[in-house]
Amino acid sequence: MTNKTLNTDAIMFITPRPELVMVQGEGSWLTDQNGKRYLDFMQGWAVNCLGHANAGMIAALNTQAKLLISPSPAFYNEPMLRLANLLTANSCFDKVFFANSGAEANEGAIKLARKWGQVNKAGAFEIITFDHGFHGRTLATMSASGKPGWDSMFAPQVAGFPKANLNDLSSVIACITDNTVAVMVEPVQGEGGVIPCTPEFMQNLRQLTQERNILLIVDEVQSGSGRTGSLFAYEQFGIKPDIMTLGKGIGGGVPLAALLATDAVACFVAGNQGGTYNGNPLMAAVGISVVEQLLAPQFLAQVQAKGELLRNELRQLVAEFHLEGERGMGMLRALMLGREIGPKLVEMAREQNPVGLLINSPQPDLLRFMPALNTSDDDIRLMASMLRGLLKQLV
Ligand code: PMP
Repeated sequence: MTNKTLNTDAIMFITPRPELVMVQGEGSWLTDQNGKRYLDFMQGWAVNCLGHANAGMIAALNTQAKLLISPSPAFYNEPMLRLANLLTANSCFDKVFFANSGAEANEGAIKLARKWGQVNKAGAFEIITFDHGFHGRTLATMSASGKPGWDSMFAPQVAGFPKANLNDLSSVIACITDNTVAVMVEPVQGEGGVIPCTPEFMQNLRQLTQERNILLIVDEVQSGSGRTGSLFAYEQFGIKPDIMTLGKGIGGGVPLAALLATDAVACFVAGNQGGTYNGNPLMAAVGISVVEQLLAPQFLAQVQAKGELLRNELRQLVAEFHLEGERGMGMLRALMLGREIGPKLVEMAREQNPVGLLINSPQPDLLRFMPALNTSDDDIRLMASMLRGLLKQLV
């Protein structure tokens, strides 16, 4: 882009981006530099769980910014304590370490599991992860991820992440050695194409790991924070993991993430873990506002109802256009197109006028939907009708 005020040359290239500059957001709508509006069903990759410009989050930011932004991680602060208590009171975990991104929370989970292995399991360090899993873009979390090509992109990998197949318990069993300390799994593989664990697999995995003295880590960076219709997705499987990571939705759009563990597993000693911004009160204050809104009466029930509506709308498109199918949990859903038209649809959706639609295609043959959890029923129907118009052109 050559416009002087919008010169993009100084931005380091990491991905092709459309020639758009987003300038404002409100609820489920984004506005670009030309005033064009977009119905946002990506929401920063499932980040803005309460939509853009949520009043409660803004109030929390303003109030806390005036009070205290960064007392240093050497001290407790009030929002950090309140958010940790809110999370432990509403989960099966006892301890929380705050982080700034999902990848950093997962790095912490990997370190905690390895530490637990040193203390309790003769130095066991291997963490079984899954093909097509996604855990972040640091070296260790890239190694834990099962994205094709990532094993050699920044070789050598961090060692110790054997890969099993999702929903295939025998493939997990085949990976277990004396060095196995944990299994790390996304309750719904997000980047991999919105593939939920089956209840049977998750329950058997919990039983197996318990029997073999192996920790179960759930990466709920994408599936947590109300996204699937319960505060955390693991609840719907009727299991209690040992470690959980949160990111994305927990901050509702600000950089906040968390590593949670049970008392039995939280074995860091001084010097093992830390970070300059970890647990800073500004982000924690926003997290409190987000979690309180998610826990407000009827909020999660409404997420479930909206998830059903989204599912029904997508199923209608499947029937109308003879597509492959639809899957997901709650408000994290995918439309399986049966053909590799995902990227084309994303572009057409964004470029249509007078209003655009923002959707995502993590795999070329499917679309992923991660709207604000409080998006209106009308917006869900509008999204489906916009998509219908595009499918008519393309299929
Ligand atoms: N884990 C999962 C399941 C994710 O979906 C993501 C992000 N897509 C991450 C970890 C990494 O989070 P972040 O980008 O905040 O580092």
